[in-house]
Amino acid sequence: MPAPTCASCHTARAALRRPRSGQALCGPCFCTAFEAEVLHTVVAGRLLPPGAVVAVGASGGKDSTVLAHVLRELAPRLGLTLRLVAVDEGIGGYRDAALAAVRRQAERWGLPLTIVAYEDLFGGWTMDAVARSTAGTGRGRSCCTFCGVLRRRALEEGARLVGATHVVTGHNADDVAETVLMNFLRGDAARLARGGGLGSAGEGGALPRCRPLQFASQKEVVLYAHFRRLDYFSEECVYAPRAFRGHARELLKRLEAVRPTAALDLVHSAERLALAPAVRPPRPGACSRCGALASRALCQACALLDGLARGRPRLAIGEHKHEPRDEGPRSRAQAAAAAF
Ligand code: SF4
Repeated sequence: MPAPTCASCHTARAALRRPRSGQALCGPCFCTAFEAEVLHTVVAGRLLPPGAVVAVGASGGKDSTVLAHVLRELAPRLGLTLRLVAVDEGIGGYRDAALAAVRRQAERWGLPLTIVAYEDLFGGWTMDAVARSTAGTGRGRSCCTFCGVLRRRALEEGARLVGATHVVTGHNADDVAETVLMNFLRGDAARLARGGGLGSAGEGGALPRCRPLQFASQKEVVLYAHFRRLDYFSEECVYAPRAFRGHARELLKRLEAVRPTAALDLVHSAERLALAPAVRPPRPGACSRCGALASRALCQACALLDGLARGRPRLAIGEHKHEPRDEGPRSRAQAAAAAF
């Protein structure tokens, strides 16, 4: 059976059916619709004001590649200046190839690129060194939790270095839905409390951060990259198979098999979630060392680095109840310094 005619231009043959709506579109009309939807997300959510200098968290992967490409298309209309900021976590055999993809993108698109490395920012610690340090402690599966905390901090440092006023990341609807599921499965009220919305407004002196692809499904991100012929890096990080996120991803896939809108439904659910006052975390304070938002005396990044320096990385994350009581009250900032 021949492909139907594109439902938008009514001229070309349709090349795809949009996963969510079932609408049959040709490649160019799909890309135009995708860009218009991201524009709507940015404008309706008032995410990036005219004149903003935007640091795009660039990993070389499909999501950040698509985000940078779409924002570059929209930048003149939105009055934005873009900077690419990449983080080198120090993961042998993985990150070098991904950074090579980011360098190619920066050159092709004429965007300035700054790379910040864990090793330089965090007293010589690379992610490989953190993984070695946690091996055998029973916390080996936590690599991504550790990495997420440090990467959030590194991206903030990189963004400040390039004079950015805002930070954007390429998280899509599936990523956000997985995070919501993980937070429910862990019973993490602090992160659930701030899981909704399109990002953070910049509490505690942090730069405002947002996710313009939050309502775009992973399938459509891949389709956009395909039709725009974008060059991106698609190998999985060596530590990813150990991550708890993988279980949430599997669960989400099974949910989507019976309810195709499950990911987006979860994203909207998180936005509307209201926690009872009794379980709502108190307001955050400031880290006594670096001034970032913190639920205790030290923010998660400083606590993690402290733990690593003392050879006890497991104390930094996930075992707070064993920490001395003088580290301050719990608060919603537990999530503020955490990866999302
Ligand atoms: Fe870091 Fe985990 Fe991502 Fe690898 S998969 S880069 S360890 S967060």
